[in-house]
Amino acid sequence: MLEMLEGMVKTFVNNLVAMNTLEIVLVTLWLSITGYASWYLISAKHHVPLTRKEAEILWKIHKNEAQCKAQKLHPIKRRDKIVGFKCDCGYKYMKKRPMLANTPVDRDDIRSRTSTFDEMHTTYESTTR
Ligand SMILES: [Zn+2]
Repeated sequence: MLEMLEGMVKTFVNNLVAMNTLEIVLVTLWLSITGYASWYLISAKHHVPLTRKEAEILWKIHKNEAQCKAQKLHPIKRRDKIVGFKCDCGYKYMKKRPMLANTPVDRDDIRSRTSTFDEMHTTYESTTR
């Protein structure tokens, strides 16, 4: 068993020594491609595609909220899909998946956020008085 392992190690070392420049380049290339591919897959997971219409609606909401007078929106694309947009004013929107998939952002969540804000507001008021 140990002899077999030793033989495997020796073969591996011999192969490594016998490696020429081209092989080293190929291995390096392969490693970088693998690295790039996994990075691409990981990063792609975090972006959710958006339709052009959705981007336009979100942009209009932003313009309304920020009183923005920009005339153009620049879609941000990942793999030929719109994942967000950039406004002429510098505003950037990227649609991202929530940290926990399938977590619905429902009314309860909004309500709890509002109550937290109210609490903060109350605390603020009471300290100033
Ligand atoms: Zn803007």
